[in-house]
Amino acid sequence: MDHFHYRDGELHVEDVPVRVIAEAVGTPVYIYSRGTFARHAQVFREGLEQAGDVHLAYAIKANPNLAVLRVLANEGYGADVVSGGEMRRAIAAGMPPADIVFSGVGKTEDELVAALEAGIGQFNLELEEEGHVLARLAAERGLTAPAVLRVNPDVDAGTHAKISTGKAENKFGVAISDAAGIFARLSGLAGLNLRGVAIHIGSQLQSLAPLERAYARVGELVAELRGAGHTITHVDLGGGLGVPYRHGDVFPTPAELGAMVARVTKDWGVTLMFEPGRVIAGNAGVLATKVIWVKPGVGDPWVIVDAAMNDLARPALYDAFHDFAAVRPNGERMTANIAGPVCESGDTFAMHREIDAVASGDLAVFRTAGAYGATMASTYNSRALVPEVLVDGDRFAVVADRIDPGTIMAAERVPDWL
Ligand SMILES: *Cc1c(COP(=O)(O)O)cnc(C)c1O
Repeated sequence: MDHFHYRDGELHVEDVPVRVIAEAVGTPVYIYSRGTFARHAQVFREGLEQAGDVHLAYAIKANPNLAVLRVLANEGYGADVVSGGEMRRAIAAGMPPADIVFSGVGKTEDELVAALEAGIGQFNLELEEEGHVLARLAAERGLTAPAVLRVNPDVDAGTHAKISTGKAENKFGVAISDAAGIFARLSGLAGLNLRGVAIHIGSQLQSLAPLERAYARVGELVAELRGAGHTITHVDLGGGLGVPYRHGDVFPTPAELGAMVARVTKDWGVTLMFEPGRVIAGNAGVLATKVIWVKPGVGDPWVIVDAAMNDLARPALYDAFHDFAAVRPNGERMTANIAGPVCESGDTFAMHREIDAVASGDLAVFRTAGAYGATMASTYNSRALVPEVLVDGDRFAVVADRIDPGTIMAAERVPDWL
């Protein structure tokens, strides 16, 4: 069931017209469907459970709104966090610290201490020195830190270069050929329980093949580590499953991923961990926007909308495609460029695209904006920080306020010597 659908000629999110939210909250505004988040969480769980003992840690960088995290906590998800701030969010949303995995290539000592004191369930180490530091910090506190070593399997995930993380030249993990030596040096340390390995090879993957190659390498490593006498109980297989941004694109389903995982990992005898982000959040949200002008151009007209690259950065960052749809389509089509008001040519959502015909004042949405949308928003050009709304059936709530430039300015100071 699609929770973003047309009824009586206008786009609804669950049972609420986008127009009603736009009138109440203004635009631009992110609108999420609670039911879609929950359904994606359930479908992912059902797909992966065929692989055995599975722990699910939602990668909260995809969408860290507290209300979204609560929905996922209610579905039994833990969290994959990459900063102290994300850890605070996961705990504030009600996720048990023991269900939280702390990833990230640059965890500071302050962040490690905060995570130890909170009782975080697993540290995903990115380099050997981090293991020594974590062991010392834990031992000083009379604690033992559960940890796995992130390895870089040197697999091309076949995705955009800026979201590829599993090639040898990427900054993430340790070379898989160095893993056994690092295990030998770290596994005896007081304060550290090095219990397994982790990988995450990239995001928006459209094929299972690179994942399967990476998992197979991890399987060989697990056997090698066990052969050297190490106890391996946990393997974290990361996230990365992509979602269709374009109508008609086909992506592997969680059930297909689960079947592949079950086949590749059947002899591993470990708890498998997954860190899905985009596949849970991407299609659970839209960015609603209002057309300010339709401005003539040398070729196609420019549809200037009130959302911009500071609200939705993915097109400017990754040349990403977001489908654009009128909230009340009149049945006609036009070919246009779509851009925001920010003073950068990169603030362009689409060029020469066929879209629903729109005019000044019309409402529209960018689809598939639930992941890596609001979480990357900024106030560039002194624009407001974009608000977020969560819909549940026929009710909705503002789950993040619009933060206006006055509030931002209130945190700035002009020193009295100026
Ligand atoms: C970003 C990230 C994820 C989530 O990736 P998706 O493509 O959104 O599923 C999972 N694990 C780690 C370590 C990450 O950095």
